[in-house]
Amino acid sequence: MTASFDFDLFVIGGGSGGVRAARMAAQRGARVALAEVLGTEGLGGTCVNVGCIPKKLYSYAAHYAEAFEESHGFGWEGEAPTLNWTALKHNRAKEIGRLNGVYGNLLRGSGVTVFDAFARLTGANGIALSTLNEDGTPGHQEFTAKHILIATGGTPHVPHFQGREHVITSNDIFDLEPFPQRLVVVGGGYIACEFASIFNGLGAKVTQLYRGEQVLRGFDDEIRHFVAAEMIKSGVDLRLDAGVVDIRKTADGLDVVCDGGALVKADAVLYATGRVPNVEELGLQAVGVAQGAKGEVIVNERYQTNVPSIYAVGDVTNRVQLTPVALGEAMVVVDQLFGPAAGKAARGMGYEFIPTAVFTHPSIGTVGYGEADAREKFGAVTVFRSEFKALKHTLSGSSERTLMKLVVDTASDRVVGLHMVGAEAGEIVQGFAVAMKAGATKAIFDSTIGIHPTAAEEFVTMREPVKT
Ligand code: FAD
Ligand code: NDP
Repeated sequence: MTASFDFDLFVIGGGSGGVRAARMAAQRGARVALAEVLGTEGLGGTCVNVGCIPKKLYSYAAHYAEAFEESHGFGWEGEAPTLNWTALKHNRAKEIGRLNGVYGNLLRGSGVTVFDAFARLTGANGIALSTLNEDGTPGHQEFTAKHILIATGGTPHVPHFQGREHVITSNDIFDLEPFPQRLVVVGGGYIACEFASIFNGLGAKVTQLYRGEQVLRGFDDEIRHFVAAEMIKSGVDLRLDAGVVDIRKTADGLDVVCDGGALVKADAVLYATGRVPNVEELGLQAVGVAQGAKGEVIVNERYQTNVPSIYAVGDVTNRVQLTPVALGEAMVVVDQLFGPAAGKAARGMGYEFIPTAVFTHPSIGTVGYGEADAREKFGAVTVFRSEFKALKHTLSGSSERTLMKLVVDTASDRVVGLHMVGAEAGEIVQGFAVAMKAGATKAIFDSTIGIHPTAAEEFVTMREPVKT
């Protein structure tokens, strides 16, 4: 490693990608620094503080409501407990604080120098930090690094419209006070659908407004329609083709005016209309780092920008916005710059067959191509489908149904799409994703013995293709 720079690697951003890259590079012997604008409390980034983790904890909380109700069918008696929103928020904050500490310890334990600072590029190898001095006055530090990694993530995007100042984003929802008895959710993506389900489960009256003909654009069409129907059945007032034109503050909360003239009353309005890369004041233009239409940092297949010493991974590149993808990309950069871990080959990153889950109630788990996309890519496909009431619901009284679907490339017999709506879909699909990465054919699925009685066994017992 060269000593002519202050550091071998300077990482900007202490989220999923940044922490992983910093830690792994330091473990390979590199001299590494990381700057996180939110300081120690921000370590872990979006996922830990205002994303995956608190969201999943609230999803667990919401599932208790149906569990209490369903328990009666299994002989449990008594009134259902009520939600103490303050206790939930407190317990979540405590756990997130613990995780922030774990991230800090991991970084420091690996020898990474952590700065509580906003970082800005000053050149191909230069970083300026805006810090606070001990007396509270603004401070300034400058460093050089052989390589710089931009891992600054993204931030919620709210479009411009009348009444925009009254809305909240996913950053605000976790600590909302008081609990919103009437919640309007605008959007039809991951975040909108997840929070509509979660707050519906927690006891709010939820209205979800989506501008298009069906939520979750990009997912398999049948999965989209099925999950939307299940969400409606569970109590979400999902309105399609519903844009918002105005939001007015009234004595009774907020009036949300839709483009057809319909009015929805709310205590809070959550806008979940996508995210944009965090690049403000980063100095990209001054240094000449190329950016795309949304401001995203453009990288090549090695995550290198047009300035060869500067790399970028994760949401700031506006590609696949998932924590495991940011982690995977970080590992590729580290292996490239500092060599792979002892005895291991340098990692690559494949964007085909990335499994993902949407934590709606019921949840979606999916990997590979949706039916329409598969037809476009492979030509002839064979589709297998199973829809059923899960065993649990034979006694629970719930009318929730499960959908499972396999899409097979007819020519090669390879399973190219696997989709599910149902309980624990993410847990189930993760294992199948390994098989699909390995190129498993339908014949291999058929020769796999199921685990009985589970819902997952359905994926290895579907024999009759859907007639098209
Ligand atoms: P981030 O984790 O956003 O980290 C970027 C960090 O950089 C932040 O801490 C920020 O404060 C810091 N920073 C920014 N600018 C500067 C600067 N100039 N100087 C210093 N520091 C700076 N993904 C999943 O896989 N599963 C899920 O269930 C899931 N749920 C989600 C739920 C929600 C509500 C949201 C919003 C996202 C969710 N995601 C989920 C997506 C996931 O959180 C992101 O893909 C992931 O966090 C991206 O990691 P990153 O390292 O690119 O950026
Ligand atoms: P998404 O891109 O998933 O969805 C944005 C939604 O907002 C779409 O329905 C879009 O509609 C709609 N929209 C966009 N612009 C407007 C507008 N001007 N007016 C009205 N509606 C609009 O973004 P999210 O914010 O939900 O999530 C960001 C990313 O974070 C996700 O894509 C995902 O990668 C990640 N994430 C992952 C999770 C997980 O793994 N479980 C959970 C949460 C987030 P249209 O489709 O018509 O464009």
